[in-house]
Amino acid sequence: MTTKIDIGILGATGIVGQEFVAALEDHPWFRIAWLAASERSAGKRYEDAAPWKLDRPIPRSIADMIVESCNPSGSPILVFSGLDSSVAGDIESEFAAAGRTVVSNARNYRMADDVPLLIPEINPEHLRLLGQQHTVRGWSGKIVTNPNCSTIVMTLALAPLTQFGLETVMVTTLQAVSGAGYPGVSSLDILGNILPYIPGEEPKMESETQKILGTVEADRIRPHSVVVSAQTTRVPVTNGHTALISVKLTESPTDADVIDAFRSFRGRPQIEDLPTAPNHPIVYLDNPDRPQPKYDVHLEGGMSISVGRLRNCPVLDIKFVTLGHNTVRGAAGAAILNAELMKVDGLI
Ligand code: NAP
Repeated sequence: MTTKIDIGILGATGIVGQEFVAALEDHPWFRIAWLAASERSAGKRYEDAAPWKLDRPIPRSIADMIVESCNPSGSPILVFSGLDSSVAGDIESEFAAAGRTVVSNARNYRMADDVPLLIPEINPEHLRLLGQQHTVRGWSGKIVTNPNCSTIVMTLALAPLTQFGLETVMVTTLQAVSGAGYPGVSSLDILGNILPYIPGEEPKMESETQKILGTVEADRIRPHSVVVSAQTTRVPVTNGHTALISVKLTESPTDADVIDAFRSFRGRPQIEDLPTAPNHPIVYLDNPDRPQPKYDVHLEGGMSISVGRLRNCPVLDIKFVTLGHNTVRGAAGAAILNAELMKVDGLI
């Protein structure tokens, strides 16, 4: 590909927006041409509007760009969205109606019948839903979403287990503070503490998983029958959501079968060699005290999840620990991978 595609970022000043900026600065297919956020930020230099929180310097080529308001006129044809969900619904539909392709992180359209909830390794065929957005909603553009950050980490680990008859999942998460955005949770609330309630998180993990693992039938998703029970907590970790998962299966694979299923798991991103695709979407770690956020969250640039501690579960069948980078694999990196798949499928 010789000419890069101009892209815009909605919510460019937030934590996910900053991950978009960092990941897209040198992207081989996409060029950051437009940044937008709230009226509080519009008109300011990006560096002045965005409280930069990444552990890499702000890209100098982006720092001087002027932040726009979230108005489709003048925006590129492809926009990534890291908008707060309180405003994402109206703004994203306005962009789709104006002919833009919106690749979103926000929850607003994830469960809509005509909107793909995509993890490219798992359900690339769900892009078929896009055809309905024009006829049903009259949009000349479109919206594609990625799942909630904890759901992505968990569902990537569950996908290879569907071959063994995935029946029931019990999951408890330990989620990083960066998952709450910036300024997010107050230090007085989280330091030396665990918060046992993340509003809206548990229902998302329980319902989004069924849609992602579902099959497309007559341009509708038939949800997977797996029943998920989720408990979600916020812990004093900067980046990386950990999930402690127990699973009931209809078959009885050996540990070696399960580990092989994790390690050999691949999908369209790997076959197509997409720029953001990890070589190994799932890295199984043999050491019994892994995965740990401190050491394992950055595997393959944060795009691989790690799994470890596979063992028998005396209540269900097997249990294990999984970890993934919430703002990379769980947010900006996920959306960029979605856009790359759409590009090779001729949808952008
Ligand atoms: P954040 O740090 O709070 O950033 C929110 C962004 O939304 C900022 O750019 C903000 O702009 C913009 N915004 C707020 N109100 C607006 C308005 N009225 N009009 C236009 N823009 C407005 O949140 P985040 O953590 O980056 O999350 C962004 C989205 O991604 C959310 O929908 C979240 O649920 C989702 N998500 C987050 C994660 C994660 O791990 N953090 C993972 C997956 C999905 P200003 O700076 O100008 O206020």
